Amino acid sequence: MRPSNRLSDATTSWRYIVKGDQYAERASNPDCMNAGVSFFSCVTTCAEVCCSGATMITIDEIVRLYRYFPITVGFRKYTPLDAGHRDFFDTIGERFGSIYVAGDFIAGNWRRRLCAMLMVNNHCRLHDTDRKPMQCRIVPFCAVFPESAQHMVLVHQQAGAFRKCKGFAAGSESGAIVWDAGRIVNEDIREPFYRYREGMVRQRRFLQAILDGLKQQPSFERFLSGSGMLEAAVPSAMLPELLRVAGMKKEHFGDFAAAQAKLCRRDLELTPGAAVFQDWLLELQAFARSLEVSAEGRA
Ligand code: SF4
Ligand code: SF4
Repeated sequence: MRPSNRLSDATTSWRYIVKGDQYAERASNPDCMNAGVSFFSCVTTCAEVCCSGATMITIDEIVRLYRYFPITVGFRKYTPLDAGHRDFFDTIGERFGSIYVAGDFIAGNWRRRLCAMLMVNNHCRLHDTDRKPMQCRIVPFCAVFPESAQHMVLVHQQAGAFRKCKGFAAGSESGAIVWDAGRIVNEDIREPFYRYREGMVRQRRFLQAILDGLKQQPSFERFLSGSGMLEAAVPSAMLPELLRVAGMKKEHFGDFAAAQAKLCRRDLELTPGAAVFQDWLLELQAFARSLEVSAEGRA
């Protein structure tokens, strides 16, 4: 049997999820609130729908994925659903009036039409490994929203970014229940769902420090008043502590710098003018100098 090739569409989902007020709208929709059961089963044949661009990852996945994707950070705006959701955002983000800004690490280049790990046969190169990103394992759920509200996420995805996804129909036909009465019933999804949420809490201090720097820039006001995501490179000075907390041994720091610089150059060729990769390359070169190795990894 063909393995499930569950995928994520980080870019499109972001643009959708950014509009948190739409979730609030759905929260007040009785049809949605009364939905007791949700069906979904990934059919893999439509991976190009959900597997474009970048994927959100946590600090706990950096060690597993740094050789595969260039890793940057992205901040998005959210409107909490209720007081409990607000409490969660207080632990992962910063409040600006009625909205919150929270960030994730981004594996990959959302400017590309398809994820670099998607093969021509629509299978994920990482699927049968322990490297498959958690976000890709939980799609179309979204870990930024509480487990009890995931039926709203599914409704939202089905109407928007995942409208061409065949998984909802396939799940209904086969009776594959994934969410029931406030709980994700599929443990293969529930377990990474909560690990992703834990990761967001663990990485908060790093992302907050990056956000504090971004707040000083003119683009931040535009981001707050507009739509979309604010993307940035990780400052080189932060990397030793970030990588230590991510679980990387110091002797691998040079390899990290070299692998990321190589991926950065590749993506700069594919998407010239992507300023975040130019910034990331400069930060990696500074990091490599601090380690007394070149960004190509030679001492
Ligand atoms: S890592 Fe795999 S599942 Fe995730 S977006 Fe890329 S190809 Fe798809
Ligand atoms: S069924 Fe949905 S999640 Fe699965 S490959 Fe198709 S679009 Fe992606």
